[in-house]
Amino acid sequence: MSKILVVDDSSTMRRIIINTLARLGFKDTVPAADGVEAWEAYKNNKNDISVIITDWNMPNMNGLEFVKKVRSVDKKTPIIMVTTEGGKKEVITALKAGVNNYIVKPFTPQVLKEKLQAVIGTNEK
Ligand SMILES: [Mg+2]
Repeated sequence: MSKILVVDDSSTMRRIIINTLARLGFKDTVPAADGVEAWEAYKNNKNDISVIITDWNMPNMNGLEFVKKVRSVDKKTPIIMVTTEGGKKEVITALKAGVNNYIVKPFTPQVLKEKLQAVIGTNEK
């Protein structure tokens, strides 16, 4: 079973992403409120998680640190960063850390769909 890990410290944003994913047909999601929770969820569902969607700015462990942690053990699982940090410098930093795709808030369901299809495509090797 393939699950999507959805990480954001805003419960509203988590709900928006999870509802959008459900409408796109991805109903099996695992929510986490920060990088610490996300890392726990990742370890507990390691073989089931097919995509990670994470915010950048979060307390305890931010999205960038979380991405680096995942990439230290897992080069394969696609990661999409959803953030208000839309600057060129931030995008490059995220990509260097191992993010596969990038969405700037606010976003439309269509954008999430396209980015998701793009990374799922790259995962089908
Ligand atoms: Mg945030």
